[in-house]
Amino acid sequence: MKILESGDHTMIKCSNCDKKLLDILHTDPEAPVELKVKALCPYCGDHSFPQNIQGRFHYSAPMEFVGDTEKLELYIEEVKEEENEILFVVKEIK
Ligand SMILES: [Zn+2]
Repeated sequence: MKILESGDHTMIKCSNCDKKLLDILHTDPEAPVELKVKALCPYCGDHSFPQNIQGRFHYSAPMEFVGDTEKLELYIEEVKEEENEILFVVKEIK
């Protein structure tokens, strides 16, 4: 397993259509917490594989580059927490 460093990103992608759904920014990977993170895909209705995220982190919708311009296509509508699992409901910006 790769050693995470503060400032590293983990991209959560849809298990079905491989779209980027959630950008995890690790802020304190050595913190003694571990959460299972999953994201719902707005494109196909499937979801990402559950991913274990070690330590503390920030999250945001992923940025896409269209030419030189950063474009935000998704937003996080809802965050559902269950014990040590978090489900991010991701929606498309229309
Ligand atoms: Zn999908």
